[in-house]
Amino acid sequence: MTLAPDQIVVPAPVGCTDRPVLHQRGQHEVFCGLTGIMWLHRKIQDAFFLIVGSRTCAHLMQSAAGVMIFAEPRFGTAIMEERDLAGIADMNDELDAVVEKLLKRRPEIRLLFLVGSCPSEVIKLDLSRAAERLALRHNPDVRILNYSGSGIETTFTQGEDACLAALAPSLPAEPETAPATLMVVGALADVVEDQFARIFEQLGIGPVRFLPARLADDMPPVGPNTFALLAQPFLTDTARALEERGATILQAPFPLGAQGTTAWLKVAADAFGISDETFEAATAAPRARAERAVALHKPGLEGKSVFFFPDSQLEIPLARFLHQELAMELTEVGMPYLNKTIMAPDMNALPDHIQVSEGQDVDEQLDRCRAIRPDITVCGLGLANPLEVEGMTTKWSIELVFTPIQGYEQAGDLAELFARPLNRRTRLEV
Ligand code: SF4
Repeated sequence: MTLAPDQIVVPAPVGCTDRPVLHQRGQHEVFCGLTGIMWLHRKIQDAFFLIVGSRTCAHLMQSAAGVMIFAEPRFGTAIMEERDLAGIADMNDELDAVVEKLLKRRPEIRLLFLVGSCPSEVIKLDLSRAAERLALRHNPDVRILNYSGSGIETTFTQGEDACLAALAPSLPAEPETAPATLMVVGALADVVEDQFARIFEQLGIGPVRFLPARLADDMPPVGPNTFALLAQPFLTDTARALEERGATILQAPFPLGAQGTTAWLKVAADAFGISDETFEAATAAPRARAERAVALHKPGLEGKSVFFFPDSQLEIPLARFLHQELAMELTEVGMPYLNKTIMAPDMNALPDHIQVSEGQDVDEQLDRCRAIRPDITVCGLGLANPLEVEGMTTKWSIELVFTPIQGYEQAGDLAELFARPLNRRTRLEV
């Protein structure tokens, strides 16, 4: 079914309640935006991510990737040496030479991202000009873009946001006369993307496109008739960049668990004028499967308390899922950054008494966590080990980004990710 844009019903924006938010401005304990390359390079199959950074950046990527020695990965680091940092060598010439060599050796690359790092920013290497210069040379065989993964004041999921925001201006333009299209925004595992595509097809919503696409030449067009549904909550800059191209963002909760997925799909269905009967027919069976899968884990999780340190920016939608669908007790929900517009539907579903915090002051937050002694603490890798040593049960937040957790078929797996560490501790204590 295709619809004219004036037939689309954009839901009225939901505002946040006047919930007090604790703003913290102290030390952060997070990975930098380079980490996003770990899942983006798998998603866009003919893209390459060239980090312009130091040996530290290369080591981070190697350890995060688990050292892929058997496969040639689609990312690498152009390492800046001391003479580059001291301004003795011309970094632009060196970068051009590295890119030439790379593209000669890897002719399958169709999209190259130059990814900035702390060192390239410190010496003010202008990667946007480098990308423009190199793009002229390699057009039309390879598209060359740039973004920053530098990490001093960012968190790791912002790498994806910066990457997709860099991609947005280069997306093909959709003509004003085109029918309304739905764009699902945010990297999803291919299996999840295929499940959502099938449900949208059963709902009769179309055409539906995904950003990022799996191939550089298949990136979705965008224009005034594009209606964008965010699949990830950390895409503030991408949403803004798509709006600048004329797209309308549909505000929705995020598709975690049976209820979250239903609410997310319903926003799209209502916008595209899908009847309640059709929605029910398309979603009833997978929703029931998801509810059953989640219910299996409820006995082990119900009433258990959970504390979120700010890390992945998935914290508020996850808290909504754990509270609404598994009856867990929320204590503090920390977010690195809080976009109240994007988060409003999930945030409004949280109970009033819990502490929502933004930013980090790690020592003070550790004190609050120790005072509460929650049954499970969701945090970054750097905090997990010390807390485990103190006898607390933890869940690595980065695992929730690497694992497919969105959609009906993954709802049970998502619940299990929280149940498993609690079960393990119970077994250890027996
Ligand atoms: S924080 Fe900066 S220096 Fe460290 S790995 Fe990330 S980009 Fe490189």
